[in-house]
Amino acid sequence: MMAASIVEKLAGLFPPDRFSTHPDLLAVASKDESSLVGVTPLAVVWPLSTAEVAQVVRECVSTRTPITTRGAGSALEGSTIPLVNGIVLDVSRMTRVLNYWPEDLQIEIEPGIIYDHLNNHLKREGLFFPPSPGGSGDIATVGGMVSTNASGIYSVKYGGTREYVLSMEIVTGTGEIMRIGNRAIKRSSGYNLIDLISGSEGTLAVITAITLKLAGIPEDRRQSAYKFPTESDAARAVSEMRRYGLDIAAIEFLDRRLVQALNQLKGYGLEEVPCLFLEFHGPRPMLDSSNESAESICVESGGQPLILPEGQRPWEIRHWATDAIKHYKPGYSIIRNDVAFPISKLPEMVEFCHAQGDAAGVVIFTFGHVGLGLLHALMVADRKNPQEWQRAHEVNSMIIRKAIELGGTVSGEHGIGLGHKDLFGLEHGVSIALMRGIKKQFDPYLILNPGKIFD
Ligand SMILES: Cc1cc2nc3c(=O)[nH]c(=O)nc-3n(C[C@H](O)[C@H](O)[C@H](O)COP(=O)(O)OP(=O)(O)OC[C@H]3O[C@@H](n4cnc5c(N)ncnc54)[C@H](O)[C@@H]3O)c2cc1C
Repeated sequence: MMAASIVEKLAGLFPPDRFSTHPDLLAVASKDESSLVGVTPLAVVWPLSTAEVAQVVRECVSTRTPITTRGAGSALEGSTIPLVNGIVLDVSRMTRVLNYWPEDLQIEIEPGIIYDHLNNHLKREGLFFPPSPGGSGDIATVGGMVSTNASGIYSVKYGGTREYVLSMEIVTGTGEIMRIGNRAIKRSSGYNLIDLISGSEGTLAVITAITLKLAGIPEDRRQSAYKFPTESDAARAVSEMRRYGLDIAAIEFLDRRLVQALNQLKGYGLEEVPCLFLEFHGPRPMLDSSNESAESICVESGGQPLILPEGQRPWEIRHWATDAIKHYKPGYSIIRNDVAFPISKLPEMVEFCHAQGDAAGVVIFTFGHVGLGLLHALMVADRKNPQEWQRAHEVNSMIIRKAIELGGTVSGEHGIGLGHKDLFGLEHGVSIALMRGIKKQFDPYLILNPGKIFD
């Protein structure tokens, strides 16, 4: 008798509403939000518990079937794209709150909870989970955020996702269930496995529960916006504000082409100039003084307060940035990076991106959570025009190389996935051999999201 295939085995284990080989559902599971071409998996399965996840992993071990864990599929570098003949393990239905300790500012949740849903739940107790991803908070799952170490508009003050993970329940690549970490805020006990799993893009383990540290909702907040003659002036103001130690909660940069794209998409009628959006948190007197200091630094850098049209809010405008770029030139695709580097290098990086884009005749947008020394340089190009497509990739590669040269990283936010694998080695050199060894410890059969980050 022939051994049952992985598809037959999983079909026998899960009810029809939690297992599928339907082409439409496979098509959804084959993609993420990158411009990379999707790959059709064999099947999708929706587990509801850690035990079910472990069962799937064990079945896949026995048939050596690759598994790609999926949250919302909003990743931007292909980390959620499955492999041929693989299974997609979609944890988006694991959405329970397992434990809540508001007095300790902690919560334990399943990985499929969406970021905004979690914060809606927390606000009743005056708490929040801060690393708000700019445009995907309404879709991204917390498991996906942990797995990519996502950051967001408030990460300048509060840090990225990794800083909020206290413990996890994981299923390793052998199907073993284990708990790592604990609920102590300060610890000096052993190797930091939490930090290893955070940002590992589903290559080491499947996360089935997460205990998060939370923050108190600030007493008050103040938002302001500034416009600048040039992109470099705005970048200089950011670097100065950080140097003066201003306690900024959020500082977002938008170049003039992005403002134009936002006007085009949403009809905002904004002045098409480079600008900064700022937010401060704290008691009112502190907000006044922080805001005054920020304003004088912006003015010294050539900026002026920007009055937004009635009813428009900075973060609502910022939310549409990626969509505005996506629709800037119909039929064009995005080529992106999310480099990070020491904050003093921000003006140099912004100038470099625009100079390279202009020299190559490539349409480029720069923006992002720049207070962290993080910059998104997005290009749009026509896939059907091989020369243009190639030029945009060359500019992208030059920008990433420049960031590394300045002491930075290939990815400050979205991870490596498939999109940045080529330059990962330039940043990490021989230490990749150590990473390969770590992967084998967690995933000896190399079935967890293989081919991602490095080969
Ligand atoms: C419009 C837009 C704006 C965005 N803005 C930001 C931003 O400001 N900041 C930012 O950081 N990102 C941003 N992103 C990218 C994306 O939203 C984040 O990377 C997010 O954290 C991914 O969550 P997800 O649930 O969609 O994960 P997915 O895309 O489903 O998965 C991402 C990776 O995590 C792995 N994974 C998912 N769940 C688990 C799990 N339970 N266990 C193990 N591995 C798992 C997957 O295998 C994959 O490698 C944006 C995306 C879009 C489309």
